[in-house]
Amino acid sequence: MKFTVAIDGPAAAGKGTISRAVAGRFGFAHLDTGLLYRAVGMKGGDPVLAARGLTAADLAREDLRSLEAGQAASKVAVLPDVRAALVAFQRAFARRDGGAVLDGRDIGTVICPEAEVKLFVTASAEIRARRRWLELEGEAFEDVLAQVRERDDRDMNRADAPMRAAEDAVVLDTSEMSVEAAIAQALALVAAKLG
Ligand code: C5P
Repeated sequence: MKFTVAIDGPAAAGKGTISRAVAGRFGFAHLDTGLLYRAVGMKGGDPVLAARGLTAADLAREDLRSLEAGQAASKVAVLPDVRAALVAFQRAFARRDGGAVLDGRDIGTVICPEAEVKLFVTASAEIRARRRWLELEGEAFEDVLAQVRERDDRDMNRADAPMRAAEDAVVLDTSEMSVEAAIAQALALVAAKLG
């Protein structure tokens, strides 16, 4: 069975939590596509070569969740050749047998426009920055907020595959929603589509 759930949206909106819940409930494989860009950004050297030669070891680095990796990722993510190098792997993952959940910025628009379920998960920049700040140690809230805004701006305004909701995506604004409620909505959408 091929069944793709595309979950897009800005940093710290809740995509990862929702993706893991959907994958766990329905037994789908999950790919956090942000990790690919983070690994390319942190590898150093020519980012296009890094993207073409990405290895499992690159994806297992412990520092990929840091603020620095997020910033590095969004800088290499504007390069069309970097994005192109990562397309085939993501498309194959999306159409693997048994179902897949991919979260990122361009899954419903570019990687898998034929996805059976598309969600765009968002929340205000202040709320997302607060969530990220609570997860990190030793960072000032103002710095985290500035970085969230900077990354949003870069991701929304790049020419190639900018972050946006697909026309047929269901938008979930988690600013005032509990994580349980957001997960329940996502599970209900997938269940309805699976029939
Ligand atoms: O989702 P995450 O915060 O890990 O993504 C890090 C960065 O990677 C994003 O800010 C974005 O620039 C880039 N990205 C992307 N397309 C994706 C996933 C991530 O451009 N599908």
